[in-house]
Amino acid sequence: MSNLGIIGAGPAGLLLALLRARRGDQVQVFERRGDPRRGSAEAGRSINLALASRGLRALRAADVLDALNDQLVPMRGRQLHAPDGAQQFAAYGQGEHEYIWSVSRSLLTQRLTDVAAATPGITLHFNHRCDGLDEAGLPVLKDPQNKLLSTPMVSRWVATDGAGSQVRQALRARGLTQVSEEFIEHDYKELDIPPGTALRREALHIWPRGGFMLIALPNADGSFTATLFLAREGSTSFATLRDDSSILAFFAAEFADVTPLIPGLAQQFIAHPQGRLGTVLTTTWNSGEHLVLLGDAAHAIVPFHGQGMNCAFEDCRILDELLSDGLPGPYARFAALRKPDADAIAQMALENHAEMSDSVRSPRFQLQRQLALEWEKRLPGRFIPRYSMVMFHDEICYSVALHRGHIQQQLLDQMTQPDAQGVLPALDDINWPLWQERVLASLAPL
Ligand code: FAD
Repeated sequence: MSNLGIIGAGPAGLLLALLRARRGDQVQVFERRGDPRRGSAEAGRSINLALASRGLRALRAADVLDALNDQLVPMRGRQLHAPDGAQQFAAYGQGEHEYIWSVSRSLLTQRLTDVAAATPGITLHFNHRCDGLDEAGLPVLKDPQNKLLSTPMVSRWVATDGAGSQVRQALRARGLTQVSEEFIEHDYKELDIPPGTALRREALHIWPRGGFMLIALPNADGSFTATLFLAREGSTSFATLRDDSSILAFFAAEFADVTPLIPGLAQQFIAHPQGRLGTVLTTTWNSGEHLVLLGDAAHAIVPFHGQGMNCAFEDCRILDELLSDGLPGPYARFAALRKPDADAIAQMALENHAEMSDSVRSPRFQLQRQLALEWEKRLPGRFIPRYSMVMFHDEICYSVALHRGHIQQQLLDQMTQPDAQGVLPALDDINWPLWQERVLASLAPL
């Protein structure tokens, strides 16, 4: 048993507290905000998250999934909306359990807080913020009255204080790590769609428009949260949508079918905050064996693969196992093990931006998708579509998914070469025995 201090009661901090309390640790969690069960979610930031197998596995390990079940809405595939209103559904996978779940981030945090508050061994301190590190490299904590807090009982620290992590900044300031923070040129804004619309419920809706897109995820109460991803500056950008008429004209031209479903569209658009998106890469996550960064604090990513929280939850499960295996150096081993995977999902999340906003519309992409599913049927466990490796196969590391995904993409590109007239092959034209030999030669068994 040890005394663990956690900075940040977001999804990762709370889940780690639950996992460690099950092992008998005494856990102190310090959160700069108030108790989420008492206040409402941040206005205009209702973010709902796609939860997939890596996240589910970690929640199961903490025995907390039952407390969330009524808030999870299955999303069985992508519902694509063309500019003319035509719709097309594409299932995410082909196995019985190959779908993902939508969950509200604020409700998830509230439920995890509820369970943590009732769990022996966990003490939650709200309105307590970390202000960096002291001379000894330990967190400086302030109570609600801004008084310094002494925490001599804590023997190990984990910083789960999110993408803007104070702890990461303090480590960087001391030259203990290097950090790259790269914002992309697209921002996001959320819009609420109330219950009672005809939108297909069990799907992730996408209105892909090339340089920008709108998506919508279902909530448990029948409503949807839509998110617009659009350039900050430029001819079609947030900068050009400043008043009612420009906002309404843009939506009428680009998203005519969904516009009537968003009440007070222009007012919502103006009132809701515009968020930035980026990738944080951190070279060193641990400071010896007394402090380690985890979740977004170590590796924030863009949301286009729906994996930021899933990755953070997988971090929690793995760190929990390493802390319990009795071997020396769990923090150093955690950082060494997870860094390549965090880098891999950061890259795949950026690549998925292009896929969601543009490629999904292309006939060649759709043919490759059909082919990938067909290869998975013919060579199960050998050829697995990259999306499925990331979302449904928690036994496959992100770095392996990235590596095999690139090999598979090269094969699919070769199989779907258009002819001299630019015509794509049909599925029936594929020389399956020939390509099967090449696939088997290129992809080692998993
Ligand atoms: P956070 O959720 O940021 O929590 C950090 C906590 O630390 C907060 O409670 C904060 O108040 C607290 N804190 C911060 N500073 C201090 C301090 N100095 N002292 C004390 N406490 C502090 N992920 C998915 O898996 N699927 C998705 O579909 C998905 N969609 C997304 C869509 C959008 C638009 C965005 C922005 C993100 C999305 N994500 C998604 C990512 C996901 O939200 C994050 O990866 C996840 O919230 C990370 O959890 P965390 O606990 O590491 O950090």
